[in-house]
Amino acid sequence: MSSGKITVVISQAPGKNPAKRALEENLAASLLLEPGIELSIVPHLYDLGPDHTGRLFLESVPGDMVVLAWLFPRAAYWLLDRDGIAGTEGQSPLHPVVPKDEDEDEKEDQAVKAPGIGSALEGPKRTIWCLDLRDHAGHQVYLEEIRRISAEAALLRKARLAQKQTNQPVAVISLGLPTQKPAPSYTPESLLETPGRRWYPVIDYSRCTNCLECLDFCLFGVYGVDGLDRILVENQDSCKKGCPACSRVCPEQAIIFPDYKSPAIAGAPVGNISGLKIDLSKLFGGEDAMVVAAKERDRELVRDGREAVGQTVAVKRRHAEKPAGPKDDLDGLLDTLDSLDI
Ligand code: SF4
Ligand code: SF4
Repeated sequence: MSSGKITVVISQAPGKNPAKRALEENLAASLLLEPGIELSIVPHLYDLGPDHTGRLFLESVPGDMVVLAWLFPRAAYWLLDRDGIAGTEGQSPLHPVVPKDEDEDEKEDQAVKAPGIGSALEGPKRTIWCLDLRDHAGHQVYLEEIRRISAEAALLRKARLAQKQTNQPVAVISLGLPTQKPAPSYTPESLLETPGRRWYPVIDYSRCTNCLECLDFCLFGVYGVDGLDRILVENQDSCKKGCPACSRVCPEQAIIFPDYKSPAIAGAPVGNISGLKIDLSKLFGGEDAMVVAAKERDRELVRDGREAVGQTVAVKRRHAEKPAGPKDDLDGLLDTLDSLDI
């Protein structure tokens, strides 16, 4: 960005958890003293509706950005993309790497993953780093990482500027024409207005292959397609609160419900979640994901006064043709408990 500063955004946790607030406040207090940083604080990213000032502010940021949220970085990144806030995803050594065992490495090597369709957005040439505030209890580690990112961003800015000057006609440079509109300013109070809680799916387009199974499966009109027949979440607020059914149906684990209790559905890194070796799903007499999804959908249909459809509508068994997905045994246990409705 033109000021040479990087924008850092802290997205607050929903609710009033004192430990979470303390981390946010300590981090904000330290960042206010840091040179080269523009700090803003917004409510929980997932809850920001299209008219919320926090969302309008995020849309107005023209340059590199660090977003610290109580969400998995994959969820936060695609949530921003869904809101029209696009950029290249920045990598951070802060994201804890869960060790994989040899069997998993082998399975992943054998699995040929089709590339996702990618974001439909023509975003600015900038980088967005998303950090998960649940990864570390103290603020110092985030501060150090933001300093590292800030230095990396400065190098990226120099490289982009050099490239721009090489490509730009000399006449335009000498006229000094403005290339960016100044960002509107928002008061901290308006940014922090508490939004209502929301619930909707977020698509990870780096994984989505546009198979449209989610569109067929959801009977509540949440999904649609754009002018190029690409899947999109068209009516976010028609989604049924607390229901993650279509994420179980997606053969690419591309549907994220960022606030769901199970890491695989909430956007944990795909393929990095496993640990336990026991098949807890079988141990608990559990059902497969498609059966659970159909039951969850039926529950919502009945709540709406409609007929349950069971597995007669759009429940294909693509999972059976695919190598094992990323759900770990803990997820299996949670899914099983969901299906038992206890
Ligand atoms: S089911 Fe998954 S992969 Fe298929 S279109 Fe929907 S999000 Fe994309
Ligand atoms: S969770 Fe249920 S209501 Fe929401 S989009 Fe998926 S299938 Fe539709």
